[in-house]
Amino acid sequence: MNGKILVDCIDAAYASIRQHADEIKVLDQAIGDGDHVFNLIRGLEALRGIRGDIEGQELGPALKLAAAKVLSTVGGSSGPLFSSLLMGMSKASDDLNGDPHDYARMFAAGVKAVQDRGKTGRGSKTMMDVLIPVADRLNELVEHAPSVSQILIELPKEAARGTLATRDMLATKGRASFLGERSLGHIDPGARSSELMIRAVCERISESYH
Ligand code: ADP
Ligand code: MG
Repeated sequence: MNGKILVDCIDAAYASIRQHADEIKVLDQAIGDGDHVFNLIRGLEALRGIRGDIEGQELGPALKLAAAKVLSTVGGSSGPLFSSLLMGMSKASDDLNGDPHDYARMFAAGVKAVQDRGKTGRGSKTMMDVLIPVADRLNELVEHAPSVSQILIELPKEAARGTLATRDMLATKGRASFLGERSLGHIDPGARSSELMIRAVCERISESYH
C-alpha cells in the first residue's frame, strides 16, 4: 500500500459521503447542528486538492500529510478526531509488508488515537461505536486468517451493526449529549459517516486485489 491507494480510498469515501449527504445532514440536524456532512466534504475535497502530493509518498508519510490537511481544514469535533485516526495510523505504518496483521495493528493504532483525543470509548453514541468494533473485528479476523477478500466483506457488516447500535444509546459525549434522553431513537451521524467511509474503503481495496 502507498499514497496512490490512499488517494483511491479518499475518492471512494468522498463519492459515498456525497451520495449520502442528505441522509447524514438529517441525522446531524436531529441530534447535532447539521454541519457534520459539510465538515466531511470540506475535508475530503481538501485531500483531493493535494492528491498529487499524497500520491507520490509512501503510505506513512501520505497518511501524515492527510492528517495535517484534515486538521487544518475541518472544523467541528470530527475534524481533529479524523485527523487523529490518520495520524495514529501513520505512526504505526512502519514495516508494512503486506501481512494483514500489520494493517490490523495500524488501524487499531489509529482508532486508539481517536479514543485518546475524544476521551471516550464505546457506548456514548459516537463514531467510536463503529471504529472500536471494526478494529476489534479486524484483529479477530486476521487471527483466524480467512482470505483478505473475506475480511473486507466482514468489516462493513460490523460497521453497520455499530451504526445501528447507536440508535438506542443515550449520547454522553459531543453536542448530542446536550439533548439527554431526546438523543434516544436517533442514529449518530458520525457513526453512520464512519460506517460509509469504512465500507467505501473496503470495497476499493477489495477491487485492487482483483
Ligand atoms: P460538532 O459536533 O462539533 O458539530 P461534527 O458535526 O463534525 O462536529 O461531528 C459530530 C460527530 O462527532 C458526532 O456524530 C460523533 O460521532 C462525533 N463525536 C463527537 N464527540 C466525540 C468524541 N468525544 N469522541 C468521538 N466522537 C465524537
Ligand atoms: Mg455537527
